[in-house]
Parts: sequence; C-alpha cells; structure tokens
Amino acid sequence: MKQFDLVVIGAGPGGYVAAIRAAQLGMRVAVAERDKPGGVCVNWGCIPSKAILSSAWLYEDMRNAEAYGIRCQGISADYGAVIRRSRKVADRMSRGVTYLFKKNGIELFPASATILSPATVRVGEEEISARNILVASGTAVRGLPGIEPDGRVILTSDDALAQETLPRSVIVLGGGAVGVEFAYVYRAFGADVAIVEMEDQLLPRTDREVAKELEKSLGKQGIRVLTSSPAKGFDKGTRTLTVSSGGKEETVTAEKLLVAVGRKVLSAGLGLEACGVEIEHGFVKVDDRLRTACPTIWAIGDVIGGMMLAHKASAEGVVAAEAIAGKEVRRTDPDRIPACVYCRPEVATIGLSEEEAKRRGIEYKVSKFPFTALGKAVASGHTDGFVKMIAEAKYGEMIGCHILGVGAPDMIAELSLARSLEATFHEIGRTVHAHPTLPEAIREAALMLGGEAIDL
Ligand code: FAD
Repeated sequence: MKQFDLVVIGAGPGGYVAAIRAAQLGMRVAVAERDKPGGVCVNWGCIPSKAILSSAWLYEDMRNAEAYGIRCQGISADYGAVIRRSRKVADRMSRGVTYLFKKNGIELFPASATILSPATVRVGEEEISARNILVASGTAVRGLPGIEPDGRVILTSDDALAQETLPRSVIVLGGGAVGVEFAYVYRAFGADVAIVEMEDQLLPRTDREVAKELEKSLGKQGIRVLTSSPAKGFDKGTRTLTVSSGGKEETVTAEKLLVAVGRKVLSAGLGLEACGVEIEHGFVKVDDRLRTACPTIWAIGDVIGGMMLAHKASAEGVVAAEAIAGKEVRRTDPDRIPACVYCRPEVATIGLSEEEAKRRGIEYKVSKFPFTALGKAVASGHTDGFVKMIAEAKYGEMIGCHILGVGAPDMIAELSLARSLEATFHEIGRTVHAHPTLPEAIREAALMLGGEAIDL
C-alpha cells in the first residue's frame, strides 16, 4: 500500500492549495480528484464566469465607444464563441493545476475517493495509507423541490456556463453573486432578464445601501428585479414562474429558468460519519485549526460552510496544511475575507455592513465618497457607485468597507491589508495614493471620516 503524510480529497482551490503548501512543508502528498483539477472554481465557477463577463464588458464598452470618440460600426456578438473561449480559459487553468502538482512532487489520483478508516483512503480501485486526510470535496449544483433542473428549460450554473445559444429571455432564480453575474451577462448580450429573490434585497447580507444602489443600476440596464418574492412553482409547459410578492401571487414567464439558489454540500458518502466526524446541515464540523472530531481528518473550503468563496477555501488550505505540520495557526476571521461580484457596476466588500455594526451594538462612524467626484472615474466614464467606509468610533479602526463601481474587486485588496493590520481611517487617509486612480476614492472616504475630505 502506498503511504502518504497527507491525502487530500478534492483538487479545488481549497484542496490544491493545501496540497502544495503541505508539499512545501516536506510532506508526502496525494490528491484524489474525480473530475478536472481546479474544482468548481477553475472549471465551473470563478474562472469561466469571469471569462464570459470579460466578453460582456468588452461588448458593452464597444457599444458605448462613441461616447469616447470612437466609432464602432456593425458590432455583433457571437455568444457561442464567447462560451467556447471561456471553456478554453478554464481548461488552460486546470492544466496549470496539474502542472503545479508535478512541480511539487504531488501524486494525483484521478478517481473518486472514500475514507475507509481514519488512516486509509480508497481511490478508485486502490487503497492508500494516510497519516492525515483533508476533505476538500466542495459542493455541486442543485435545484429546489418542484423546480428540478433538466438542462433544457431549467438550468443550473453548470448548464449556463456550457450552453452556446443565448436565450431570448431568462428568469434568474436567486439574487446572490452567481445569479446577479449571470443576469448581467444575459442582459449585456441582449436577453430579457428578471431576477427573483426571496430576501428583501439582492446580495443578502451585503451592506444594504450597496445592494439597493446595485438594484437601481441593474434596473437602468433593463433587468427586472423582484425582491421579497419567494418562488412558489414553475410551470414548464408555459415556462411561467409563480412568486408570492407583497401578499399577492405574481407570474414571470421566460424561455429559460436559471436556478442559482445555493449548492449541495458534498459530504455524504465519503465515509466521514463512520470515523466519528460530525456533520451539521451537510457541513463538516471543524475546530479553529480546521480539524474534525476525528484527529486525523481535517476539512476546508465550501464543505465546511461559511463564506463559499475560492479565496476563503485557499486561505483555509494553507492553514490546514500548516496546522497538520504542527504550526500554531488559526483559520481567518470571516470579517477579514473580502467578497466580490463582477457585474457592472462591480461590488467588493469586506468586514461589517452598517446593519451588522448596528446589530453588534458597535459605535461607529460612516462615510460615503461617490465616484462622480473622482478624476479617474470621470476620465474613464465609470462614475456609477461609491466607496462606503465604516470605522469604530473610539479609535477609528476601519471595520468595514463596501465598494460599488467598476474596478471594485481590484480595489478591495488594499482594504484586506488594512483589516489585517487593524488600520485606522487616519492611517488609510494619510497613505499616499497614486493620482489619478480609482483607489483614491478609498483615501477620500477615509479622510471624510475625519472631516478632512479634499475632493468633496
Ligand atoms: P470545489 O471547488 O467545489 O472543489 C471540490 C473538488 O472535489 C471538485 O473538483 C470535486 O470533483 C472533488 N470531489 C468531490 N468529492 C470527491 C471525491 N469523493 N473524490 C474525489 N474528488 C472529489 N468564488 C470566488 O471566490 N470568486 C468568484 O468569482 C466565484 N465565482 C463563482 C461562480 C460560479 C458560477 C460558482 C458556481 C461559484 C463561484 N465561486 C466563486 C465559488 C467558488 O467556486 C467556490 O467557493 C470554490 O470552488 C470552493 O472551493 P473548494 O476547494 O472548497 O471546492
């Protein structure tokens, strides 16, 4: 039987990063992956969706080119080519993960894994011995009771990322990040789009002011947004979704229904319970060091719940590998993990929303700097949105920042660093930012908190 210090189940952004970090720390590592290396993120999530979004942005820019003094005539989109490009991008990134495994001396088992005991894993037909096992099996698409995806009329995000024909009209069920991004893409290429969300705002739990402003902006683009509207049922014959809205029933009809209401956690059938691992609502329970109730079994990423994001999975991958190596590490505080949405205008957020700061009883100050007052935003023609900063009142520590606007996901990196260093708004405001750049809006929002804003 082959022997490993660590066997990782799943080669998504959690598992593959953990495997590499463990190999760097001198462990003999195996990874079991039943699909393509890279997981959902590389193959059916972050990467292909951003490739498609890049095409949508370019198309939108070309249609608006005349406002910049550029005449583009006869522009048209080939949606099939957009999808084919995104598949190539995903394949290239997946091959990159395979290359990294080779480079780091990690053995890849391209097979399904099950845990036979706290020290043995079956991969395909083979049994291998493991001093430690790391579960990074992630999630898969799912439907809703009575609204089961069929790949034809009722689509999952996997279907939507593969289908080369642009639907004429789409209902997106679920106004989270995935739903909003697809809604933006379909609308940008010309489809009629409605988003149906049961909570009272898009991007539930995001700062309300940001979510409401995004809703307005998507509305201006022609996307119909129905919030506080739980779905009651879908008639496939007439392609009509019934929702309850404000105590009344309403119907929305479209060629396709995209179900983007969350994902199925892949914790069942792995053999975890027999080893004493606790599972709660499908999520694997772990401690602060990402260890389960079974001392040799660890878990990270979407399968343990929390923020279902690739960079959160990767950060946990590093912590788990280091904890297994005996280092004194703890998982990252969720208040220090950014979350982004790549529609236009984009959204990037970190830390507490204003509602959450209130709920926790924190005394805070808040500022909002609009992109209309920023040179780079006006020059580039992207003035929608703002930077909203929240700092606790006594010492001025920045505890939340929420950006709506083009470039927001790239801008949030500075705030992640600021959160990690527990920076105050004084420190952010006194940091010299290059001019003209979009991140100057962050500095201005920080200065505003001290009553020192220059450009507003
Ligand atoms: P996964 O990526 O789900 O990987 C788990 C892997 O385990 C899979 O490859 C699976 O095949 C394998 N596996 C499962 N069971 C077994 C088994 N028994 N044996 C062998 N292999 C197994 N996040 C972001 O941060 N930014 C984004 O822009 C973003 N966009 C997204 C867009 C879409 C459309 C979707 C669906 C998701 C998006 N996400 C995004 C979320 C992100 O993809 C996930 O948070 C991330 O992939 C989770 O990583 P993971 O390693 O935990 O699991």
